[in-house]
Amino acid sequence: MSKTIFEKIILREIPAKIHFEDQDVIVIDDINPVAPIHLLIIPKKRIKTLNDISEEDSNLIGRLFQIAKQMAKKLNIDESGYRTIFNCNNDGGQTVFHIHLHLIGGRLLNWPPG
Ligand code: AMP
Repeated sequence: MSKTIFEKIILREIPAKIHFEDQDVIVIDDINPVAPIHLLIIPKKRIKTLNDISEEDSNLIGRLFQIAKQMAKKLNIDESGYRTIFNCNNDGGQTVFHIHLHLIGGRLLNWPPG
């Protein structure tokens, strides 16, 4: 299986602005931000889509939201508000098949999304 763009970032084969990293997770700036703050919270374990998470991934998925909360506070958007999103497959708008949680904020976000 060829490496995803995120695996290449984790392996430092391509550059990214890294905000946080530990043994399980890396947080980077999205290269094409849709808001003043647009981070990607990425588990190092490659899971293709949200459909592929298993029971054993529950802690890891929960951890992504804990990190999202911490990053929102650090970047001072916790009180103004923000959005977390997992896109899944074609209709969900997923383009990189290695799950990642988008953390988007710094402006008023419309609802419903387009
Ligand atoms: P999704 O469409 O939910 O799969 O999100 C994939 C995201 O990855 C998009 O928002 C892209 O802008 C972002 N992306 C793609 N390549 C890179 C990269 N090299 N560095 C940072 N973000 C990237």
